[in-house]
Amino acid sequence: MQRLSTSDADFAERFAAIVDDRRESDAGVSDKVAQILADVRQRGDAAVRELTETYDRHRLDWRIPASECEAAFAALAPEARDALTLAADRIRSYHAAQLPEDRDYRDEAGVRLGARWSAVDAAGLYVPGGNAAYPSSLLMNAIPAKVAGVERLVVATPTPDGVVNPLVLAAAHLCGVDEVWRIGGAQAVAALAYGTETIARVDVITGPGNAWVAEAKRQLYGVVGIDMVAGPSEILVIADGQSNPAWIAADLLSQAEHDPSSQSILITDDAAFANTVEAEVEALLGQLATGERARLSWQDYGVVIVASDLLAEAPALANRLAAEHVEISTDDPEPIFAALRHAGSVFLGRHTPEAIGDYVAGPNHVLPTGRRARFASGLSVLDFMKRTSFISLTEAALGAIGPAAVTLADIEGLPAHGTSVKVRL
Ligand code: NAD
Repeated sequence: MQRLSTSDADFAERFAAIVDDRRESDAGVSDKVAQILADVRQRGDAAVRELTETYDRHRLDWRIPASECEAAFAALAPEARDALTLAADRIRSYHAAQLPEDRDYRDEAGVRLGARWSAVDAAGLYVPGGNAAYPSSLLMNAIPAKVAGVERLVVATPTPDGVVNPLVLAAAHLCGVDEVWRIGGAQAVAALAYGTETIARVDVITGPGNAWVAEAKRQLYGVVGIDMVAGPSEILVIADGQSNPAWIAADLLSQAEHDPSSQSILITDDAAFANTVEAEVEALLGQLATGERARLSWQDYGVVIVASDLLAEAPALANRLAAEHVEISTDDPEPIFAALRHAGSVFLGRHTPEAIGDYVAGPNHVLPTGRRARFASGLSVLDFMKRTSFISLTEAALGAIGPAAVTLADIEGLPAHGTSVKVRL
Protein backbone atom coordinates (compact mmCIF):
# COMPACT_ATOMS: atom_id res chain seq x y z
CA MET A 1 0.00 0.00 0.00
CA GLN A 2 1.30 3.43 -0.73
CA ARG A 3 0.34 6.60 1.03
CA LEU A 4 0.44 9.98 -0.66
CA SER A 5 -0.48 13.49 0.28
CA THR A 6 -1.51 16.06 -2.30
CA SER A 7 0.85 18.50 -0.56
CA ASP A 8 3.90 16.25 -1.14
CA ALA A 9 6.47 17.73 -3.52
CA ASP A 10 6.48 14.56 -5.60
CA PHE A 11 2.67 14.02 -5.51
CA ALA A 12 2.06 14.76 -9.21
CA GLU A 13 4.72 12.29 -10.27
CA ARG A 14 3.61 9.52 -7.92
CA PHE A 15 -0.06 9.99 -8.75
CA ALA A 16 0.69 9.86 -12.49
CA ALA A 17 2.52 6.56 -11.94
CA ILE A 18 -0.60 5.15 -10.23
CA VAL A 19 -2.84 6.32 -13.07
CA ASP A 20 -0.51 4.77 -15.67
CA ASP A 21 0.08 1.51 -13.82
CA ARG A 22 -1.40 -1.32 -15.89
CA ARG A 23 -2.48 -4.11 -13.60
CA GLU A 24 -3.39 -6.46 -16.38
CA SER A 25 -2.25 -8.09 -19.58
CA ASP A 26 1.51 -7.89 -19.60
CA ALA A 27 3.25 -9.12 -22.74
CA GLY A 28 3.42 -12.62 -21.25
CA VAL A 29 -0.36 -12.81 -20.97
CA SER A 30 -0.92 -11.35 -24.47
CA ASP A 31 1.40 -13.84 -26.14
CA LYS A 32 0.05 -16.80 -24.21
CA VAL A 33 -3.54 -15.80 -24.95
CA ALA A 34 -2.72 -15.45 -28.67
CA GLN A 35 -1.36 -19.02 -28.59
CA ILE A 36 -4.46 -20.34 -26.83
CA LEU A 37 -6.77 -18.63 -29.33
CA ALA A 38 -4.84 -20.05 -32.30
CA ASP A 39 -4.85 -23.50 -30.73
CA VAL A 40 -8.62 -23.51 -30.14
CA ARG A 41 -9.24 -22.16 -33.62
CA GLN A 42 -7.18 -24.93 -35.16
CA ARG A 43 -7.94 -27.92 -32.97
CA GLY A 44 -11.36 -27.03 -31.54
CA ASP A 45 -12.64 -29.37 -28.85
CA ALA A 46 -9.32 -31.20 -28.43
CA ALA A 47 -7.57 -27.95 -27.50
CA VAL A 48 -10.33 -26.87 -25.13
CA ARG A 49 -10.26 -30.28 -23.46
CA GLU A 50 -6.49 -30.15 -22.88
CA LEU A 51 -6.50 -26.56 -21.64
CA THR A 52 -9.39 -27.31 -19.27
CA GLU A 53 -7.41 -30.23 -17.91
CA THR A 54 -4.34 -28.03 -17.43
CA TYR A 55 -5.98 -24.99 -15.85
CA ASP A 56 -9.17 -26.30 -14.27
CA ARG A 57 -7.93 -29.82 -13.49
CA HIS A 58 -10.88 -31.92 -14.63
CA ARG A 59 -12.03 -34.03 -17.55
CA LEU A 60 -15.77 -33.82 -16.97
CA ASP A 61 -18.36 -33.37 -19.71
CA TRP A 62 -18.45 -29.66 -20.47
CA ARG A 63 -22.13 -29.33 -21.09
CA ILE A 64 -24.13 -28.98 -17.91
CA PRO A 65 -27.66 -30.21 -18.67
CA ALA A 66 -30.63 -27.90 -18.15
CA SER A 67 -32.09 -30.49 -15.77
CA GLU A 68 -29.09 -29.97 -13.43
CA CYS A 69 -29.74 -26.20 -13.43
CA GLU A 70 -33.42 -26.75 -12.73
CA ALA A 71 -32.61 -29.15 -9.89
CA ALA A 72 -30.11 -26.66 -8.44
CA PHE A 73 -32.82 -24.00 -8.40
CA ALA A 74 -35.35 -26.35 -6.80
CA ALA A 75 -32.82 -27.31 -4.11
CA LEU A 76 -32.02 -23.74 -3.08
CA ALA A 77 -32.57 -22.79 0.54
CA PRO A 78 -35.56 -20.41 0.74
CA GLU A 79 -33.45 -17.38 1.69
CA ALA A 80 -31.03 -17.99 -1.20
CA ARG A 81 -33.94 -18.40 -3.63
CA ASP A 82 -35.60 -15.24 -2.35
CA ALA A 83 -32.34 -13.26 -2.56
CA LEU A 84 -31.63 -14.46 -6.10
CA THR A 85 -35.19 -13.72 -7.20
CA LEU A 86 -35.19 -10.26 -5.62
CA ALA A 87 -31.89 -9.47 -7.35
CA ALA A 88 -33.16 -10.78 -10.70
CA ASP A 89 -36.39 -8.77 -10.47
CA ARG A 90 -34.57 -5.54 -9.63
CA ILE A 91 -31.94 -6.06 -12.35
CA ARG A 92 -34.69 -6.85 -14.89
CA SER A 93 -36.72 -3.74 -14.15
CA TYR A 94 -33.65 -1.47 -14.27
CA HIS A 95 -32.54 -2.92 -17.61
CA ALA A 96 -36.04 -2.97 -19.16
CA ALA A 97 -35.93 0.82 -19.02
CA GLN A 98 -32.81 0.76 -21.24
CA LEU A 99 -34.64 -0.70 -24.25
CA PRO A 100 -34.14 1.79 -27.08
CA GLU A 101 -36.90 3.06 -29.33
CA ASP A 102 -36.94 2.66 -33.09
CA ARG A 103 -37.05 5.84 -35.15
CA ASP A 104 -39.15 6.32 -38.29
CA TYR A 105 -39.89 9.80 -39.61
CA ARG A 106 -40.01 11.92 -42.76
CA ASP A 107 -37.77 14.99 -42.93
CA GLU A 108 -38.41 18.35 -44.59
CA ALA A 109 -37.07 17.07 -47.96
CA GLY A 110 -39.69 14.31 -47.90
CA VAL A 111 -37.11 11.59 -47.17
CA ARG A 112 -38.20 8.77 -44.88
CA LEU A 113 -35.45 7.95 -42.40
CA GLY A 114 -35.11 5.81 -39.37
CA ALA A 115 -33.36 3.14 -37.40
CA ARG A 116 -34.56 -0.20 -36.16
CA TRP A 117 -33.00 -2.00 -33.20
CA SER A 118 -32.65 -5.76 -33.16
CA ALA A 119 -30.98 -8.24 -30.84
CA VAL A 120 -28.00 -10.40 -31.78
CA ASP A 121 -28.90 -14.06 -32.40
CA ALA A 122 -26.60 -15.61 -29.80
CA ALA A 123 -24.74 -14.22 -26.81
CA GLY A 124 -21.85 -15.81 -24.94
CA LEU A 125 -21.95 -14.86 -21.27
CA TYR A 126 -18.69 -15.29 -19.40
CA VAL A 127 -19.22 -15.97 -15.71
CA PRO A 128 -15.91 -15.97 -13.81
CA GLY A 129 -15.21 -18.92 -11.60
CA GLY A 130 -11.48 -19.23 -10.94
CA ASN A 131 -11.06 -17.76 -7.47
CA ALA A 132 -14.72 -17.32 -6.61
CA ALA A 133 -18.02 -18.24 -8.24
CA TYR A 134 -20.23 -15.40 -9.35
CA PRO A 135 -23.95 -16.21 -9.59
CA SER A 136 -24.46 -12.45 -9.47
CA SER A 137 -22.41 -12.05 -12.68
CA LEU A 138 -24.65 -14.59 -14.34
CA LEU A 139 -27.69 -12.44 -13.50
CA MET A 140 -25.90 -9.28 -14.64
CA ASN A 141 -25.03 -10.82 -18.03
CA ALA A 142 -28.07 -12.93 -18.76
CA ILE A 143 -30.85 -10.55 -17.77
CA PRO A 144 -29.88 -7.69 -20.13
CA ALA A 145 -29.45 -10.26 -22.93
CA LYS A 146 -32.95 -11.64 -22.29
CA VAL A 147 -34.43 -8.16 -22.04
CA ALA A 148 -32.78 -7.32 -25.39
CA GLY A 149 -34.49 -10.34 -26.95
CA VAL A 150 -31.45 -12.57 -27.61
CA GLU A 151 -32.64 -16.03 -28.64
CA ARG A 152 -29.65 -18.15 -27.60
CA LEU A 153 -27.93 -17.48 -24.28
CA VAL A 154 -24.73 -19.45 -23.75
CA VAL A 155 -22.89 -19.38 -20.43
CA ALA A 156 -19.23 -20.33 -20.06
CA THR A 157 -17.94 -20.69 -16.53
CA PRO A 158 -14.87 -22.54 -15.26
CA THR A 159 -15.30 -25.15 -12.55
CA PRO A 160 -11.88 -25.61 -10.92
CA ASP A 161 -11.34 -29.27 -10.01
CA GLY A 162 -14.77 -29.94 -11.47
CA VAL A 163 -16.54 -28.27 -8.56
CA VAL A 164 -19.54 -26.31 -9.73
CA ASN A 165 -21.35 -23.70 -7.67
CA PRO A 166 -25.03 -24.72 -7.53
CA LEU A 167 -26.04 -21.06 -7.22
CA VAL A 168 -24.56 -20.35 -10.65
CA LEU A 169 -26.65 -23.18 -12.10
CA ALA A 170 -29.73 -22.02 -10.21
CA ALA A 171 -29.23 -18.49 -11.56
CA ALA A 172 -28.90 -19.90 -15.09
CA HIS A 173 -32.24 -21.64 -14.66
CA LEU A 174 -33.86 -18.53 -13.21
CA CYS A 175 -32.70 -16.41 -16.18
CA GLY A 176 -33.67 -18.89 -18.89
CA VAL A 177 -30.11 -19.54 -20.09
CA ASP A 178 -30.06 -22.05 -22.96
CA GLU A 179 -26.62 -23.65 -22.58
CA VAL A 180 -24.12 -23.84 -19.72
CA TRP A 181 -20.56 -24.98 -20.47
CA ARG A 182 -18.02 -25.64 -17.73
CA ILE A 183 -15.05 -24.03 -19.45
CA GLY A 184 -13.11 -20.90 -18.56
CA GLY A 185 -10.27 -18.58 -19.40
CA ALA A 186 -9.06 -17.65 -22.87
CA GLN A 187 -9.99 -21.09 -24.21
CA ALA A 188 -13.67 -20.55 -23.30
CA VAL A 189 -13.72 -17.15 -24.97
CA ALA A 190 -12.07 -18.66 -28.08
CA ALA A 191 -14.57 -21.54 -28.19
CA LEU A 192 -17.48 -19.11 -28.01
CA ALA A 193 -16.00 -16.85 -30.68
CA TYR A 194 -14.82 -19.42 -33.23
CA GLY A 195 -17.13 -22.29 -32.37
CA THR A 196 -15.90 -25.87 -31.98
CA GLU A 197 -17.30 -29.27 -32.95
CA THR A 198 -19.62 -29.17 -29.92
CA ILE A 199 -20.11 -25.46 -29.20
CA ALA A 200 -21.80 -23.28 -31.81
CA ARG A 201 -20.30 -19.82 -32.15
CA VAL A 202 -21.97 -16.75 -30.71
CA ASP A 203 -22.18 -13.16 -31.98
CA VAL A 204 -21.29 -11.25 -28.84
CA ILE A 205 -19.29 -12.18 -25.74
CA THR A 206 -19.87 -10.25 -22.54
CA GLY A 207 -18.82 -10.47 -18.94
CA PRO A 208 -15.91 -9.89 -16.62
CA GLY A 209 -12.97 -12.15 -15.98
CA ASN A 210 -9.32 -12.21 -15.05
CA ALA A 211 -6.43 -10.99 -17.22
CA TRP A 212 -6.65 -14.07 -19.50
CA VAL A 213 -10.32 -13.58 -20.18
CA ALA A 214 -10.02 -9.84 -20.69
CA GLU A 215 -7.08 -10.23 -23.06
CA ALA A 216 -8.88 -12.96 -25.05
CA LYS A 217 -11.91 -10.72 -25.53
CA ARG A 218 -9.66 -7.85 -26.60
CA GLN A 219 -7.87 -9.99 -29.17
CA LEU A 220 -11.12 -11.49 -30.52
CA TYR A 221 -12.93 -8.20 -30.94
CA GLY A 222 -13.98 -8.10 -34.57
CA VAL A 223 -14.44 -11.86 -34.81
CA VAL A 224 -17.19 -11.32 -32.24
CA GLY A 225 -18.64 -8.26 -30.56
CA ILE A 226 -17.61 -7.64 -26.98
CA ASP A 227 -19.09 -5.45 -24.30
CA MET A 228 -15.82 -4.00 -23.04
CA VAL A 229 -12.58 -5.13 -21.52
CA ALA A 230 -13.47 -5.62 -17.86
CA GLY A 231 -10.46 -6.74 -15.87
CA PRO A 232 -9.56 -6.86 -12.19
CA SER A 233 -11.99 -4.86 -10.06
CA GLU A 234 -11.35 -1.43 -8.58
CA ILE A 235 -12.83 0.83 -5.98
CA LEU A 236 -12.14 4.45 -5.21
CA VAL A 237 -13.60 5.67 -1.93
CA ILE A 238 -13.81 9.41 -1.33
CA ALA A 239 -14.50 9.80 2.37
CA ASP A 240 -14.49 12.64 4.84
CA GLY A 241 -13.21 12.28 8.40
CA GLN A 242 -16.73 11.79 9.78
CA SER A 243 -17.07 8.50 7.93
CA ASN A 244 -17.03 5.26 9.88
CA PRO A 245 -13.49 3.87 9.41
CA ALA A 246 -14.61 0.24 9.81
CA TRP A 247 -17.23 0.71 7.08
CA ILE A 248 -14.70 2.28 4.73
CA ALA A 249 -12.12 -0.45 5.42
CA ALA A 250 -14.70 -3.10 4.54
CA ASP A 251 -15.60 -1.23 1.35
CA LEU A 252 -11.94 -1.08 0.29
CA LEU A 253 -11.46 -4.80 0.91
CA SER A 254 -14.72 -5.70 -0.85
CA GLN A 255 -12.91 -5.19 -4.13
CA ALA A 256 -9.42 -6.21 -2.99
CA GLU A 257 -10.75 -9.68 -2.19
CA HIS A 258 -11.65 -10.30 -5.86
CA ASP A 259 -8.13 -10.63 -7.20
CA PRO A 260 -4.50 -9.95 -6.22
CA SER A 261 -4.52 -7.45 -9.12
CA SER A 262 -7.61 -5.59 -7.84
CA GLN A 263 -7.11 -2.03 -6.67
CA SER A 264 -8.60 -0.12 -3.74
CA ILE A 265 -7.95 3.59 -3.30
CA LEU A 266 -9.01 5.92 -0.51
CA ILE A 267 -9.03 9.71 -0.85
CA THR A 268 -9.72 11.59 2.35
CA ASP A 269 -8.95 15.02 3.74
CA ASP A 270 -8.28 13.73 7.26
CA ALA A 271 -4.87 12.15 7.96
CA ALA A 272 -5.93 10.75 11.35
CA PHE A 273 -8.97 9.12 9.74
CA ALA A 274 -6.66 7.62 7.07
CA ASN A 275 -4.54 6.07 9.86
CA THR A 276 -7.60 4.54 11.49
CA VAL A 277 -8.84 3.14 8.17
CA GLU A 278 -5.42 1.57 7.56
CA ALA A 279 -5.56 -0.07 10.99
CA GLU A 280 -9.12 -1.30 10.35
CA VAL A 281 -8.00 -2.77 7.02
CA GLU A 282 -5.23 -4.68 8.80
CA ALA A 283 -7.65 -5.98 11.41
CA LEU A 284 -10.19 -7.06 8.82
CA LEU A 285 -7.58 -8.72 6.60
CA GLY A 286 -6.83 -11.06 9.50
CA GLN A 287 -10.48 -12.11 9.71
CA LEU A 288 -11.43 -12.62 6.07
CA ALA A 289 -11.46 -16.05 4.46
CA THR A 290 -10.29 -14.19 1.34
CA GLY A 291 -7.64 -12.35 3.40
CA GLU A 292 -4.65 -13.75 1.57
CA ARG A 293 -5.85 -12.54 -1.83
CA ALA A 294 -7.08 -9.23 -0.43
CA ARG A 295 -3.76 -8.66 1.34
CA LEU A 296 -1.80 -9.12 -1.87
CA SER A 297 -4.04 -6.62 -3.66
CA TRP A 298 -3.86 -4.10 -0.78
CA GLN A 299 -0.08 -4.49 -0.44
CA ASP A 300 0.71 -4.15 -4.13
CA TYR A 301 -2.00 -1.82 -5.39
CA GLY A 302 -3.70 -0.20 -2.38
CA VAL A 303 -3.42 3.59 -2.24
CA VAL A 304 -4.33 6.15 0.44
CA ILE A 305 -4.30 9.79 -0.62
CA VAL A 306 -4.66 12.57 1.91
CA ALA A 307 -6.03 15.68 0.20
CA SER A 308 -5.85 19.20 1.56
CA ASP A 309 -9.39 19.96 0.39
CA LEU A 310 -11.74 17.10 -0.52
CA LEU A 311 -14.20 19.06 -2.62
CA ALA A 312 -11.52 21.00 -4.47
CA GLU A 313 -9.16 18.07 -5.16
CA ALA A 314 -11.00 14.74 -5.09
CA PRO A 315 -13.11 15.11 -8.27
CA ALA A 316 -10.11 15.94 -10.45
CA LEU A 317 -8.11 13.02 -9.03
CA ALA A 318 -11.12 10.71 -9.44
CA ASN A 319 -11.60 11.80 -13.05
CA ARG A 320 -8.00 10.88 -13.81
CA LEU A 321 -8.37 7.51 -12.11
CA ALA A 322 -11.67 6.83 -13.97
CA ALA A 323 -12.33 4.01 -11.54
CA GLU A 324 -14.81 1.20 -12.00
CA HIS A 325 -16.55 2.03 -8.71
CA VAL A 326 -16.52 5.36 -6.90
CA GLU A 327 -18.03 5.71 -3.45
CA ILE A 328 -18.63 9.15 -1.95
CA SER A 329 -18.96 8.93 1.81
CA THR A 330 -19.95 12.42 2.96
CA ASP A 331 -23.16 13.95 4.32
CA ASP A 332 -23.79 15.71 1.03
CA PRO A 333 -22.16 13.79 -1.84
CA GLU A 334 -23.83 15.91 -4.53
CA PRO A 335 -21.12 18.57 -5.07
CA ILE A 336 -18.43 15.91 -5.61
CA PHE A 337 -20.82 13.80 -7.71
CA ALA A 338 -21.62 16.82 -9.90
CA ALA A 339 -17.92 17.23 -10.72
CA LEU A 340 -17.33 13.52 -11.47
CA ARG A 341 -17.17 12.74 -15.17
CA HIS A 342 -15.27 9.47 -15.47
CA ALA A 343 -16.48 6.54 -13.37
CA GLY A 344 -18.12 3.19 -14.10
CA SER A 345 -20.70 3.49 -11.32
CA VAL A 346 -21.07 5.92 -8.42
CA PHE A 347 -22.34 5.12 -4.92
CA LEU A 348 -23.70 8.15 -3.12
CA GLY A 349 -23.76 8.70 0.61
CA ARG A 350 -22.73 6.86 3.73
CA HIS A 351 -25.37 4.14 3.44
CA THR A 352 -24.57 3.06 -0.11
CA PRO A 353 -21.80 0.47 0.05
CA GLU A 354 -20.49 -0.56 -3.36
CA ALA A 355 -21.41 -4.18 -2.65
CA ILE A 356 -25.12 -3.32 -2.82
CA GLY A 357 -24.54 -2.56 -6.51
CA ASP A 358 -22.76 -5.89 -6.97
CA TYR A 359 -25.92 -7.75 -6.07
CA VAL A 360 -29.31 -6.18 -5.72
CA ALA A 361 -29.52 -2.47 -6.54
CA GLY A 362 -30.37 -3.04 -10.21
CA PRO A 363 -27.71 -1.33 -12.39
CA ASN A 364 -25.16 -3.64 -13.97
CA HIS A 365 -22.05 -4.64 -12.03
CA VAL A 366 -20.06 -5.49 -15.17
CA LEU A 367 -18.22 -2.20 -15.47
CA PRO A 368 -15.19 -0.82 -17.27
CA THR A 369 -11.92 -1.19 -15.37
CA GLY A 370 -8.32 -0.12 -16.01
CA ARG A 371 -9.25 3.60 -16.52
CA ARG A 372 -11.59 2.65 -19.37
CA ALA A 373 -14.47 4.54 -17.76
CA ARG A 374 -12.96 7.47 -19.69
CA PHE A 375 -14.65 6.07 -22.80
CA ALA A 376 -16.72 3.02 -21.86
CA SER A 377 -19.86 2.26 -19.87
CA GLY A 378 -21.22 -0.63 -17.86
CA LEU A 379 -22.87 -3.61 -19.53
CA SER A 380 -26.35 -2.78 -20.77
CA VAL A 381 -29.17 -4.04 -22.96
CA LEU A 382 -27.57 -2.13 -25.85
CA ASP A 383 -24.52 -4.43 -25.79
CA PHE A 384 -26.80 -7.20 -27.05
CA MET A 385 -28.45 -5.10 -29.75
CA LYS A 386 -27.50 -3.34 -32.93
CA ARG A 387 -29.14 -0.61 -34.93
CA THR A 388 -30.02 -0.84 -38.61
CA SER A 389 -30.67 2.46 -40.29
CA PHE A 390 -33.06 2.76 -43.23
CA ILE A 391 -33.76 5.29 -45.98
CA SER A 392 -36.73 5.58 -48.33
CA LEU A 393 -37.10 8.19 -51.07
CA THR A 394 -39.95 9.12 -53.36
CA GLU A 395 -39.23 10.46 -56.84
CA ALA A 396 -39.71 13.97 -55.50
CA ALA A 397 -37.40 13.40 -52.54
CA LEU A 398 -34.71 11.99 -54.83
CA GLY A 399 -35.12 15.09 -56.99
CA ALA A 400 -34.52 17.26 -53.93
CA ILE A 401 -31.33 15.69 -52.58
CA GLY A 402 -30.05 13.53 -55.49
CA PRO A 403 -28.13 16.23 -57.41
CA ALA A 404 -25.91 16.90 -54.39
CA ALA A 405 -25.03 13.20 -54.27
CA VAL A 406 -24.10 13.30 -57.96
CA THR A 407 -21.80 16.27 -57.29
CA LEU A 408 -20.08 14.49 -54.39
CA ALA A 409 -19.68 11.27 -56.42
CA ASP A 410 -17.99 13.31 -59.18
CA ILE A 411 -15.64 14.92 -56.65
CA GLU A 412 -14.75 11.50 -55.21
CA GLY A 413 -14.14 10.11 -58.71
CA LEU A 414 -16.74 7.33 -58.39
CA PRO A 415 -18.79 7.58 -61.61
CA ALA A 416 -20.95 4.50 -61.02
CA HIS A 417 -22.16 6.07 -57.80
CA GLY A 418 -23.15 9.24 -59.66
CA THR A 419 -24.79 7.30 -62.49
CA SER A 420 -26.95 5.21 -60.16
CA VAL A 421 -28.49 8.45 -58.90
CA LYS A 422 -28.54 10.31 -62.26
CA VAL A 423 -30.41 7.57 -64.12
CA ARG A 424 -33.28 7.94 -61.65
CA LEU A 425 -33.45 11.71 -61.73
P1 NAD B 1 -11.90 -16.38 -14.28
O1 NAD B 1 -13.06 -17.26 -14.60
O2 NAD B 1 -11.89 -15.03 -14.87
O3 NAD B 1 -10.56 -17.11 -14.72
C1 NAD B 1 -10.30 -18.47 -14.49
C2 NAD B 1 -9.62 -19.05 -15.70
O4 NAD B 1 -8.41 -18.35 -15.97
C3 NAD B 1 -9.24 -20.49 -15.59
O5 NAD B 1 -10.31 -21.31 -16.00
C4 NAD B 1 -8.06 -20.60 -16.54
O6 NAD B 1 -8.50 -21.08 -17.77
C5 NAD B 1 -7.55 -19.20 -16.70
N1 NAD B 1 -6.17 -19.12 -16.19
C6 NAD B 1 -5.77 -19.00 -14.91
N2 NAD B 1 -4.44 -19.01 -14.84
C7 NAD B 1 -3.98 -19.15 -16.11
C8 NAD B 1 -2.69 -19.25 -16.69
N3 NAD B 1 -1.58 -19.19 -15.96
N4 NAD B 1 -2.59 -19.38 -18.03
C9 NAD B 1 -3.71 -19.44 -18.80
N5 NAD B 1 -4.96 -19.38 -18.30
C10 NAD B 1 -5.09 -19.22 -16.97
O7 NAD B 1 -11.87 -16.32 -12.69
P2 NAD B 1 -10.96 -15.53 -11.65
O8 NAD B 1 -9.53 -15.87 -11.87
O9 NAD B 1 -11.59 -15.77 -10.34
O10 NAD B 1 -11.09 -14.00 -12.03
C11 NAD B 1 -12.30 -13.30 -11.95
C12 NAD B 1 -12.00 -11.85 -12.24
O11 NAD B 1 -13.22 -11.17 -12.57
C13 NAD B 1 -11.38 -11.10 -11.09
O12 NAD B 1 -10.29 -10.36 -11.60
C14 NAD B 1 -12.48 -10.16 -10.62
O13 NAD B 1 -11.96 -8.96 -10.11
C15 NAD B 1 -13.19 -9.92 -11.91
N6 NAD B 1 -14.57 -9.50 -11.77
C16 NAD B 1 -14.86 -8.34 -12.36
C17 NAD B 1 -16.15 -7.86 -12.35
C18 NAD B 1 -16.44 -6.58 -13.08
O14 NAD B 1 -17.59 -6.23 -13.23
N7 NAD B 1 -15.45 -5.88 -13.59
C19 NAD B 1 -17.16 -8.60 -11.69
C20 NAD B 1 -16.83 -9.81 -11.09
C21 NAD B 1 -15.51 -10.27 -11.15
